[in-house]
Amino acid sequence: MKAAVLYEPHSRIIVEDLDIEPPHPGEVLLDMVGAGVCHSDYHLVDGHATPRGLPLVLGHEGAGVVREIGEGVTSVAPGDKIILSLDVMCGHCRNCSEGSPALCETHQGPVPGRMSKDGAPYHHGRPTYTEQAIVPSDACVKVPDDTPLQKACLISCAVITGIGAVVNRAQVPAGASMAVFGCGGVGLNVVQGGVLASAGQIIAVDTVPYKLELAEQFGATHFINPEKEDPVERIRAITGGGVNYAFEVVGFPALVKQAFQSTRTTGTTIVVGVQPAGQDVSVDGLDLLRDRSLMGSWHGAARARVDFLWILDLYKQGKVKLDELISRYRPLDEINEAFDDMLQGKVARTVLVFD
Ligand SMILES: [Zn+2]
Ligand SMILES: [Zn+2]
Repeated sequence: MKAAVLYEPHSRIIVEDLDIEPPHPGEVLLDMVGAGVCHSDYHLVDGHATPRGLPLVLGHEGAGVVREIGEGVTSVAPGDKIILSLDVMCGHCRNCSEGSPALCETHQGPVPGRMSKDGAPYHHGRPTYTEQAIVPSDACVKVPDDTPLQKACLISCAVITGIGAVVNRAQVPAGASMAVFGCGGVGLNVVQGGVLASAGQIIAVDTVPYKLELAEQFGATHFINPEKEDPVERIRAITGGGVNYAFEVVGFPALVKQAFQSTRTTGTTIVVGVQPAGQDVSVDGLDLLRDRSLMGSWHGAARARVDFLWILDLYKQGKVKLDELISRYRPLDEINEAFDDMLQGKVARTVLVFD
């Protein structure tokens, strides 16, 4: 079976045949159907993030069909359609029990290597840029048989991370104003989360004009290109003193500060973008003291087994946009071209599809 492999940072991805083991106890063998091309994977290619080991099979956003189950698996059966959760949820630890399964304390690491070539093991987490994958059953969310997996695969990462940040984590109330710094795949879902929450003003901030156009399609009401005007000043002008909620969806400490500065007193800043390891985020302490909040949001504070299903329901009702997120479909062989498109800001999301 074919998989997309990173051999070393700053090199092109190689798509090649690997061997895959049958599922061990508690694991599931999946036939992948759709995989979203997410910036987080590229961070392993450009050296922004450190791979757990090399060679590494890439991908984390995806959906597929269960081909085979390991011993003891009862939550899914062969033939079931599933969307992968970014986080493996044990259901028993303190965080799972308190309603934060995205931060499960039991399943911290990746499953051990199940892929190999000529007997040499390949590293992987819960990979999706691969025709087949072995994943823990606790990362599988069973979805209805009529779910269009080539679209619904985006719920796995981009959609839940964005909508969940608004609805689950910040719990934005109706009528609130919000700003979204960064309108890529996740940022657009913060925008549509704002629409779902009935936010009043939804201010999109991005340097790429195409992404601001997309943000308008997703329901943003105001648009700021920081290369042309100062976002903090403009947001304060639009809202009469600052937004209630500012979301940082890029992953730059300096942008967190800017988002924070754009909130009004009593406002909340939500860090959604993956921040570089070991770097501090700084804000003015006196501004913080004025009833402002600064919070993080891990994967949309997802309760995947609940949230994926209501998001699918809202998609069927036309209230959540998935089709509009997908700029194009490509076969696995075109993973490098898909990354190129992403880097050039040409696409909202590319979905890799498998026959
Ligand atoms: Zn992702
Ligand atoms: Zn747990």
